[in-house]
Amino acid sequence: MGLPEKPYTQAEVIEKLGEYAKLDADPYSGKLFTVAFESGVEELRKLSHQAFSMFMDKNFLDFTEFRGPIRLEKEVIDIAKSMMNAGEEAVGTFTFGGTESVFLAVKAARDQFFIKKGFQIPEIVMPVTGHPCYEKAAEYMGMNLIRVSINEETLEGDPEAIRAAITENTAMIVGSVPNWPFGTLDPIEEFARIAEENGIWFHVDACVGGFILPLLRKLGEPIPVFDFTIPGVSSISMDPHKFAYSSIGASVVLFRKGFSKMLSQYVNMRWPGYPIVNPGVLSSRSAGPVAATWAALHFLGEQGYLDLARRLLQARNQITDGLIKMGFKIIGRPRSPIVAFTSDEVNLFTLSDALLDKGWYVNPQRGIANMNIPRSIHLTVTPIHDRMATQFLKDLEETKSEVAKVPPSEIEGMAKGFGMIMGMTAGDMDYEAMRQIMGKVEENLALYGPELLKAFGMEDEMPQEMALLNELFDSIPPEIMELLVNYVVIEIFRKGL
Ligand SMILES: *Cc1c(COP(=O)(O)O)cnc(C)c1O
Repeated sequence: MGLPEKPYTQAEVIEKLGEYAKLDADPYSGKLFTVAFESGVEELRKLSHQAFSMFMDKNFLDFTEFRGPIRLEKEVIDIAKSMMNAGEEAVGTFTFGGTESVFLAVKAARDQFFIKKGFQIPEIVMPVTGHPCYEKAAEYMGMNLIRVSINEETLEGDPEAIRAAITENTAMIVGSVPNWPFGTLDPIEEFARIAEENGIWFHVDACVGGFILPLLRKLGEPIPVFDFTIPGVSSISMDPHKFAYSSIGASVVLFRKGFSKMLSQYVNMRWPGYPIVNPGVLSSRSAGPVAATWAALHFLGEQGYLDLARRLLQARNQITDGLIKMGFKIIGRPRSPIVAFTSDEVNLFTLSDALLDKGWYVNPQRGIANMNIPRSIHLTVTPIHDRMATQFLKDLEETKSEVAKVPPSEIEGMAKGFGMIMGMTAGDMDYEAMRQIMGKVEENLALYGPELLKAFGMEDEMPQEMALLNELFDSIPPEIMELLVNYVVIEIFRKGL
């Protein structure tokens, strides 16, 4: 399909886009407990759209030409700094997402390590619950990442496990407030002490928590301090596109020292063109997100955010209580907006599918058997859920009793069989095995790719029933599953399923 020979009219364009938009989950429905951070404030939504479009066409690549966004960024960063009790010397960068913020912190930590220790392969150490963007950054930047065990009781990070994993090559320690899977908080003060004692960069991942936990603390919740008042903290990431309810594509990374930001930026004056100075990973970028962030922060203000935090808390507590009453087990101590629960009675993957049939979006999680981390369902609770919690609990209770009647054995059996055909169980993989497999991937995919898609039920549509896939994810070594998923997703996008 090339460009249309006959251009669409405006009305046709909008109509067609409307059709595609119908394929999406509705972020304003309040039925998403996944990656939609919805305030439920109608005026804020309109204002964000307006702010975004006012700056959408301004290319922040050239901040000498487009000066407004510099001012917007400074004021957004100032607010983030004040929330993290940063000193005068601290600096920050507005980025397009938590992953980009983390990349900048990792790059600065890596280069700091090179300055101190010379060129050896630097390592990142973090609890197993840390976000995959650290592995991604490590892979892109030629580093290693070590995931360490957590406290089995609380599912919070374990300082002793961190300490034990530190070597000569450790360039960075990461702690999350909270982590994404379970919403539990790592002991930041203890991690910071270990980092300081060993002269290691310490990054606090407050991507989810940065804009909400300080408010929950103000409301009397037991939230420990995790900011720059702790001496060992080198950098902090926090995402306005999460609990500042900004437009998507908005994050902030803060550095304790100006020099750290210097290590994170990219400057190039070696070509015949204009000087490239990129504070972030991207070069050309719209100033829309920084404007929408500025708008949200200023429109809601302290009172607005506190009101939303109150609503969120009420929804979270109602949901948590409801889950316990229904016989689910809450994982860890919920101190953040994230609640994860597990069950011995029902298959959680099937439960998650059945909830989707009722229009509810939740994230099933596989856990890690050899670390005693059970399967669970993850809920991200946002302010809009205060009006939805009662309905959700009612539907969940119904769904639970429906699912309890389904024998779990069938899909679990199929998945185990598939794992055995692959001749492997988790833990078998090493670099050499991986290298051998990668060497054969290209030709094998050409041969078996279509079969694989058929097995996934993805020849010409996205599967609605995810339970079998989730069982598969759980019974095959992750490295193999990564390859399969990698291939399948290329096909999804190629076909536009
Ligand atoms: C969301 C998140 C990130 C970054 O994710 P993006 O999708 O890139 O914004 C990093 N760490 C944690 C703990 C997160 O929840």
